[in-house]
Amino acid sequence: MSWLTSWIHRSTQDPLDGSKSGFVVAITGHGPDALLELRQAVARLCFMHTTEGAASEPECKKEIDLQTAALGAPAGGRRPRSSGKRDGSLLERYAFSRHLRTVVWWARRVWYATQPVDPRMRSALERRWTELPDHVKTPSQTLGRMGIGCEGTHGVFPKCNFACKPCYHSREANRVRIDGPHTIARVGEQMAFFHRTRAPHAHAQLIGGEVSLLDPDDHAEALGVMRSYGREPMSFTHGDFDYDYLRRLALGPDGRPRFRRLSFALHIDTTMVGRRGIARTDSEEALDPNRRECAGMFRRLRKEHGVRFFLAHNMTVAPANVDQIPGVIRRCRSLGFGMFSFQPAAYVGDERRWNANYRALDPDRVWERIEEGAGARLPFHLFQLGDERCNRSAFGFYAGNRWHSVLDDTDPRDLAVRDAFLAYFGGLYWKAPLHLLLPRLIRVTIAHPDVLPLGIGWIRRTLRRIGGPTVLLRQRIVPMTFVMHRFMHAADVKPAWDLLEHGEMSPDPRIRETQERLQACSYGMAHPETGRIVPACVQHAILDPAENLRLSLELPLAARRPPTGRAASE
Ligand code: SF4
Repeated sequence: MSWLTSWIHRSTQDPLDGSKSGFVVAITGHGPDALLELRQAVARLCFMHTTEGAASEPECKKEIDLQTAALGAPAGGRRPRSSGKRDGSLLERYAFSRHLRTVVWWARRVWYATQPVDPRMRSALERRWTELPDHVKTPSQTLGRMGIGCEGTHGVFPKCNFACKPCYHSREANRVRIDGPHTIARVGEQMAFFHRTRAPHAHAQLIGGEVSLLDPDDHAEALGVMRSYGREPMSFTHGDFDYDYLRRLALGPDGRPRFRRLSFALHIDTTMVGRRGIARTDSEEALDPNRRECAGMFRRLRKEHGVRFFLAHNMTVAPANVDQIPGVIRRCRSLGFGMFSFQPAAYVGDERRWNANYRALDPDRVWERIEEGAGARLPFHLFQLGDERCNRSAFGFYAGNRWHSVLDDTDPRDLAVRDAFLAYFGGLYWKAPLHLLLPRLIRVTIAHPDVLPLGIGWIRRTLRRIGGPTVLLRQRIVPMTFVMHRFMHAADVKPAWDLLEHGEMSPDPRIRETQERLQACSYGMAHPETGRIVPACVQHAILDPAENLRLSLELPLAARRPPTGRAASE
């Protein structure tokens, strides 16, 4: 390369761990020297970014100038041109010390890049654990040990073209125009806030109104923005779109995939109103063709363009469809879903859409129906996410037609595996590229050699539990997680949150339970403008109406055209 002019944009990817740096730097120079300068500048920048927290742009530039000056180059990243002459031992000493410094620098860089848990993640976990209320600090708690919880967007595309009963969005939501630049800007602000104040990595839901009303390019850009802030995004949709939308989302203008993998939550159930071809139905089975078609689009995308996917099936549970849960799971578990998530309905959002007694939905009854569909007991106590009254999860896999939990909750040896997993692997970034993940796992194993006998024992017991190693050859193994997430009623959330804001706990058992659950919330939404992260229940029950009203003024729907021609004369 004779000339090198490189712009490293804010989305510059760290060459080692895939994290993103946070500003623009320009380097212009000659030949191999310029390449070296570029590498050193990027690496230093990323080094500061990943090991010492988010440094400000002036701080980083200053550091780069200092470092390049130490290597004999003037500030700004440019090194003086060599005259071509050798000036004896002085130059050689300089070259030796420069190379030594480079070797030491790279050794340090590799050491930091392969440390099992990013220091920023470690301190985020410690902070999260400290903030949790005592009643959820159980051995199975994953918040503050494995991760920091889920995140979701709000006020980024409130509008939806369905009229579900119930609907968690405030009645003002549908007065807000879908606007790509608004979505991308707000998503960026919220994700940047999460990244800055919470943790470098997390799962985040691209959620609000109906995501497929966004232009596919805007949708793709929003996902890209989320990833640039270390978020693993999942798009939440009713799934009523065509294959062409999915293809345009997944492929760039050049026809090449812009994502290696997409994550979607497809919400399909009988509480929804407005689906094309079947606007309303009481039969979950009648919606199976839609589930099949939707999942089929993702399989087609993988086949035609190699874009992999993770699909969750979401379902609102109401008194009218709770007993149809088993059938949905049994009929649809082989369509390509990796998760079935059920949300018992709550009195929240648009009150015009409340049409049943949602308080009658007993969580144990809902979970029993999920177990009936899975054909197995689902041990949700093994891993807890926040408060059990909010979340129940069972992690496992199907071997053929039988679902198995990843751990046997009745075997103390498996519980020891769980404890070791949370203690040793907590905070590890499993989505890191293999060349980083592998050395990180090796370093965990060297630091905790008991991982090996624990792991080997677990594999042997699991194989025995599922019927022997030959099952792996005979049966298809499909990972499958079952989840129940119970949003809370707005009438309970409002007083509970008011009291919490004043540092008080309610004597009323129902409000107190709501407060305890809010304190252990695992699903946060960011408000950069106030510097706060609030539970999604608070967002929907308290903040959404005013936020959507403000947005409806900022992004009003297009004015209706005056009637013309024949219509006007009639
Ligand atoms: S407080 Fe609400 S949003 Fe948070 S985990 Fe519980 S049900 Fe979910």
